[in-house]
Amino acid sequence: MNEGTLFVVATPIGNLDDLSPRAREVLGAADLIAAEDTRVTGRLLSHFGIKSRQTDHNEASVVARLIGELLDGKSIALVSDAGTPSISDPGFRLLREAHQAGITVSPLPGACAFVAALSASGLPTDRFVFEGFLPAKKAARAKRLQDLGNETRTLIFYESVHRIAATIQDLIDCFGAGRRAFIGRELTKLYEQCVGADLAGLAAMLEEGQIPRKGEFVIVLEGAAELAPANDSIDAQRLLEELVEILPGKQAVAIVARLSGQKRNVLYDKMLALRPEAAD
Ligand code: SAM
Repeated sequence: MNEGTLFVVATPIGNLDDLSPRAREVLGAADLIAAEDTRVTGRLLSHFGIKSRQTDHNEASVVARLIGELLDGKSIALVSDAGTPSISDPGFRLLREAHQAGITVSPLPGACAFVAALSASGLPTDRFVFEGFLPAKKAARAKRLQDLGNETRTLIFYESVHRIAATIQDLIDCFGAGRRAFIGRELTKLYEQCVGADLAGLAAMLEEGQIPRKGEFVIVLEGAAELAPANDSIDAQRLLEELVEILPGKQAVAIVARLSGQKRNVLYDKMLALRPEAAD
């Protein structure tokens, strides 16, 4: 059997000039373009005068058909609406099945919103975690943020215009208003904004409209300071019991974590055992 190639093609996140010449060539030469939404990709293709056939690839039955075409020797270019396919975008299922079928997979790197934001953020880039979109539901979101409480690597989140202000507030509640952060808004587009400040500063700019609540956002957040070595001279449980009597639960946890060197998520669970009503 003559086996084809699945090309994973990054497309622009705003500025169409970011489509690489090689991506244009592969999109033009592919037997088929597997798109997230053929109408969105259609606009990109017509801008570049590319006439290749397109299909959606979100259904399981379509994935099976595409694997068949690849095994028949056809080349397929996987794209999403913007940026790098399968990064907070569809593509995972097709890629997994292509690998299982032993098909050649070849990436064409290009625009990716989180890489663009991180690269401009001025925050440490040697180690980072990409968290994508936080859960929409309040409890799941609070739990995810709580789990990240001790994360020392730089954190990266995608966020929509509807939730950007609420998310910055959630980050303040969990990590403290003084944590350094960065917002990349409308990257590569006409109204691009790259703003670094502490979380309190970003919240104020969103509130006052210096950062308009319009467009697309990436948040980059400084990691936690390395935990102090565990301090055995402090009775963390006792201190927590005292502090939850006089402070909000999260603040009590933050102080005990800092003084004792114990993990915040462990202390948070202990705090909830003492004061279940302090749960988010
Ligand atoms: N696959 C894409 C990539 O490679 O970045 C991400 C797709 S995800 C569905 C869309 C999210 O990416 C947006 O909600 C926003 O958080 C971020 N994003 C995409 N384009 C952006 C841009 N031009 N500026 C800032 N953020 C952007």
